[in-house]
Amino acid sequence: MVKETQNLIKGLPHKTIERLSQYRRALLICLEKGKEYIFSHEIAEIQHITSVQVRRDLMLIGYSGTLRKGYNIKELINLIGNIIDSPGGINVAIIGMGNLGRAVSKYLTHKRQKLTIVAGFDINSKKIGNEILGIPCYAPDEMKQIVEEKKIGIAIITVPATKIPETTKRLINAGIRGVLNFTPTPVVVPDNIFLEEYDMITSLEKVAFFVKQAMIEEEENRM
Ligand code: ATP
Repeated sequence: MVKETQNLIKGLPHKTIERLSQYRRALLICLEKGKEYIFSHEIAEIQHITSVQVRRDLMLIGYSGTLRKGYNIKELINLIGNIIDSPGGINVAIIGMGNLGRAVSKYLTHKRQKLTIVAGFDINSKKIGNEILGIPCYAPDEMKQIVEEKKIGIAIITVPATKIPETTKRLINAGIRGVLNFTPTPVVVPDNIFLEEYDMITSLEKVAFFVKQAMIEEEENRM
C-alpha cells in the first residue's frame, strides 16, 4: 500500500471507519440496482445522517466527487475497500460454537470476501473434531497451533461470560490481532490487540428503558 494512503488510514477516527463500512454497504446495494453515481445527500439520507458528515468522511479518505454527477459508486466502493480490507483478507475464528457462535457464523459466512471464518473452538467433545456449518471445530488447547497454521487474525468471542478470563489468556498466547467480544463481560487485552465489544443485552435493555419511559409518559398523559 502506498505510504500516502497508509498515513491517511492511521489517523482515521473510529466513528469514520464505522460509517465507511456502512457507506460501502449502502453503495453496494445502489450498484446492484444499476446506479452509477451518487450525491452526498443521497448517502446521508440512506444513513440518516447529514450530508456534511458524509462529505467530511469522504474528504478524510481523499475522495471528492464531481459537483454535477456526484461520487462514482464503483470508485468509492473500491476506495473504501482499500481502506478497510486487507489485500490478502483476514481469517476469523469463533470461540464458543454454541447458539450465539453458530448464529454469528451463519450470519457472517460469505458476507465479506476479505473476512473468512476458518475455525471454531469449543470445549464440547461432541463438537471438537467435527464441522459445524462447514466450519471445523477444535479444542481450546489447540488454539495456538491452529491460529498459526490457519493464519487467524481475528477472534469472535461467544463463550459463556464466566469463561472470558481463560479464553482471553489463550487468545493472547495464540497471538491473535483483533477481538470482537459478543459477551456481556468486558475483555482485557494488551494495547497491541484491537478490541471491539458488542454487548447485545445492554443494547436491548437500553431500548427497553426508553420504551418503558415512553409507556409511562403515555399513561400519565392519559390520566
Ligand atoms: P449449546 O447448547 O450448543 O452448548 P449454548 O449457546 O446454550 O449452546 P453456552 O453455555 O452459552 O451454550 O456456551 C456457548 C458455547 O461455548 C458452547 O458451545 C460451549 O460448549 C462453549 N464453551 C464453553 N466454555 C468454553 C471455553 N472455555 N472455550 C471454548 N468454548 C467454550
